[in-house]
Amino acid sequence: MQKLGNNHGGYHGETIDIRAVLRDIAAAAPAHGWTTETFHEQGEFKWSALHRQASLLRDPQSVIRIYISAGIHGDEPAGPLAALRLIQENRWPENAEICLVPCLNPVGFTLNRRENADGIDLNRDYRNSKSAEARAHLAWLERQPPFDLYLCLHEDWESHGFYLYEQNPDHRPSLAEKIIAAVSAVCPVDLAETIEGRAAQGGIIRPIFNPLERPDWPEAFYLITHKSRQGYTLEAPSDFELSVRVNALVAAVNAALTSAA
Ligand SMILES: [Zn+2]
Repeated sequence: MQKLGNNHGGYHGETIDIRAVLRDIAAAAPAHGWTTETFHEQGEFKWSALHRQASLLRDPQSVIRIYISAGIHGDEPAGPLAALRLIQENRWPENAEICLVPCLNPVGFTLNRRENADGIDLNRDYRNSKSAEARAHLAWLERQPPFDLYLCLHEDWESHGFYLYEQNPDHRPSLAEKIIAAVSAVCPVDLAETIEGRAAQGGIIRPIFNPLERPDWPEAFYLITHKSRQGYTLEAPSDFELSVRVNALVAAVNAALTSAA
């Protein structure tokens, strides 16, 4: 499987019709038992959080709460497409209760650009937020009970393969190796020893940082600080075919959920 060689200085691959993708998600979700909460509206777009109860209610103690988000960067189309596929395939562990936010930056997708309409990188706006989108999303997140696990779906236009960031401050059993193993069956993994300036091993970055020392929080910093003690930012390589990247993110989510359940 080869890189396409399209991405010089940014993402120059296939784009998506985000309106059509959101329509498909809105049609598929209720058919598979999801409820929808709109937490923000701007122009023609609605920001939705989907919720799916665990189907196994015999043992409430075994229920795990999972948070999944996608589409915070408008030049990373595989995330919302993976969210749609996961809803359509409907293969969730029966003890998984899931909150899914399928697209956090629809306007960015209409522009095929990372930032929102005002040029704000929403994924640096989860502390002292300037954007209406991040503020509305944070207000929704603050109303949610804690999650056992978070998964943030992303793409990286520069990478040579799939990789992930793990946050696991309490040293719970790691899901990282299982995610990488599952993805490697459908997509190349970036085996570089340095990715985005950080030490990496086998496609896994375990960054050491104190969120409180950084002013420009990505969504994951908010989540690990306030909502969940374990999580993964999943990065598909956007210089490969779009279908490969969607397969990679879907495989990663399924592996994480199966391992955590
Ligand atoms: Zn991203």
